[in-house]
This record gives sequence, C-alpha cells and structure tokens, in this order.
Amino acid sequence: MQSMSENDSMLDERLLLEAAREARKKAYAPYSRFLVGAAILDDQGKLHKGCNVENAAYPQGTCAEAGAIAAMILAEGRQIKAIAVVGESPDPVTPCGGCRQKIREFAAPTTPILIGDLKQLRLRQTLAELLPHSFGPEYLLNEPQ
Ligand SMILES: [Zn+2]
Repeated sequence: MQSMSENDSMLDERLLLEAAREARKKAYAPYSRFLVGAAILDDQGKLHKGCNVENAAYPQGTCAEAGAIAAMILAEGRQIKAIAVVGESPDPVTPCGGCRQKIREFAAPTTPILIGDLKQLRLRQTLAELLPHSFGPEYLLNEPQ
C-alpha cells in the first residue's frame, strides 16, 4: 500500500503533465508547427504554465520553459519544485540546453523534470541528470567580498 505522500506525488505528476498539455495547446508555432507546453509547480504549490512562442525573426522565439519561468516569477514564485514539458515526437522532448540552464537558476539538482507527450510520461529526470556539473547562482552569491 502506498503512503499518502507517494499518492500525492503521483497526483502532482499527473496534474503537472496535464497542465503542460493544456499550455501546449496555446503554443504559437506557425513556422515549425512543433508545439511545446511546460508547467511548473513552485514551492508555494502554485502552477505556472508556458508555451513556445515563435517569431518570424527565428532567434527571437522563446521556449515553453522560459514562458513558465516568467509566469512563476511574475507570481512571486522563486523555487521550482517540479517541471513538466510536453511535446510530440518519436523521442521524448527534453528541455533544450538553454532552458536547462534557465531551470537551474530556480531549481535544485534533485528537482524532477517530467517529459511527456499527449498520452503519457515518457521520461523522468532530475535537473542534475540533464545538466551535470552545472553553474548556478551560488557561484556568484557565495563569492567572498
Ligand atoms: Zn528551450
């Protein structure tokens, strides 16, 4: 029999993936048609969603994870407890390198990153698994004066 916390954790993952799927529907991706949604659970238990937003000047487009992080900051969240990313592809749609670093700013090495598609969880990784030996805020904030 599962403990209550394990049940809660499973419920959170399901809800987080579903929130990312909902966000994906809002993506603006007329050029690639590659829709991505992301959802963050913050340290206050709030959900923040984001979707990719492309631009005719291609490099100006933004990823779903960046949108979700911006929404979290706007809502005064500061710590990512878990993040889900949803896209449709033969391989799991993991955060790009830039987004792994963006997540790193607000997450612990053990923070779960859930990669899903429209139907299921495809891959569960920690931030440290996706971005090993990473550089983060403590390098700057703990610098002796
Ligand atoms: Zn990205």
